[in-house]
Amino acid sequence: SLAAQSCAGCGVKLQTENAELPGFVPEQAVVREPAICQRCFRIRNYNEASSVTVDQNEFLKLLSSVATTDSLVVHIVDLYDFEGSLISGLQRFVGNNPVLLVVNKVDLLPKSMNLNRLRNWVQQQAKSEGLRTLDIVLCSAKRNIGFEHVIEALDRHRKGRDVYVVGATNVGKSTLINRLIKDYSDLERELTTSRYPGTTLDAVHIPLDDDKFIIDTPGIVYPTRMTEIVPRGFLQSLLPDKPIKPLVYQLNDQQTLFIGSLVRFDFVEGERQSFTLYISNALNVHRTKMERADALYEDHQGELLGGPSREELAEMPAWTRHSLRVPRGAKKDVFISGLGWIQVNGEAGALLDLYAPKGIKVLLRDSLI
Ligand code: GDP
Repeated sequence: SLAAQSCAGCGVKLQTENAELPGFVPEQAVVREPAICQRCFRIRNYNEASSVTVDQNEFLKLLSSVATTDSLVVHIVDLYDFEGSLISGLQRFVGNNPVLLVVNKVDLLPKSMNLNRLRNWVQQQAKSEGLRTLDIVLCSAKRNIGFEHVIEALDRHRKGRDVYVVGATNVGKSTLINRLIKDYSDLERELTTSRYPGTTLDAVHIPLDDDKFIIDTPGIVYPTRMTEIVPRGFLQSLLPDKPIKPLVYQLNDQQTLFIGSLVRFDFVEGERQSFTLYISNALNVHRTKMERADALYEDHQGELLGGPSREELAEMPAWTRHSLRVPRGAKKDVFISGLGWIQVNGEAGALLDLYAPKGIKVLLRDSLI
């Protein structure tokens, strides 16, 4: 039976249950000879890497052996979910190996955005998370913006070493790896998959022309990101595809915004001011008075307010309240991991309550834009 079989390509145990986890084989492909997982099948037949995911503990275990190698670590983060996709503790695990920070999805921000300012912001945030970066590259893997800078940075910093590519799920790691396979790897040689020493995890090895490899590690799942806890069918509504059109709301205190049925934002106290929402434009926003918000949510979650459906919401963690105080004169974002952020435009300060599913990372940060 399948349970007893391992993939002939990478050695991982085969399973038909979860397409996101290592060893997945679609039901109809179980009879394939030799038995091979979907990922190895794709790599062999289409030269295409796809994501495999692991949780943070497994990943850090996997990563701890990188510290003993001499390599370049490429950490891909999603600009749109920066704090949510940054691997905390990365520095500790990669040892003395240098980290190149590749910030993906720059295409989502307004074109008028100043890239130097953006880079400074990224540098500041990375530093405050304890991450020392050798260099920072901004790009969009999907829209092919800045990819030449990624290649340049690899050429400049690799110095004959292997490259480990690390990142959380949905940051665009596969999209970027697939570009690297086409434009940077040694196509003369066959793409190989191999088991990662000392663990049950496998990693794709992409050959370079100097007998070194780009090693694509599994994507880390952080349950602190909204993208990880919504039903699969809802994910596309959360991930913006086109540049975000910011939504500006002039609010009086004691007013509420619902973002779909996922989040509730209360402007509790402060002068009338504007708030700018940077969220996927596929999401519904509904404004009401705070005093009506409880009843409205009770009656209209999953329907008038937008998705996910009531049944799906019942499967998600219940809301928890984050009380946030925006100091006078500061330009701040209320960041909601995997959803986006709300920029607070007033200078007079504000008292805010943000309700989000328990466990989702919510924080107040210096404005990105
Ligand atoms: P992985 O899980 O890190 O391997 O991420 P994928 O490469 O599968 O991408 C996750 C999602 O982000 C997909 O919906 C991609 O289309 C999208 N994506 C990847 N790169 C970009 C990018 O540069 N810009 C935008 N807007 N979306 C991207």
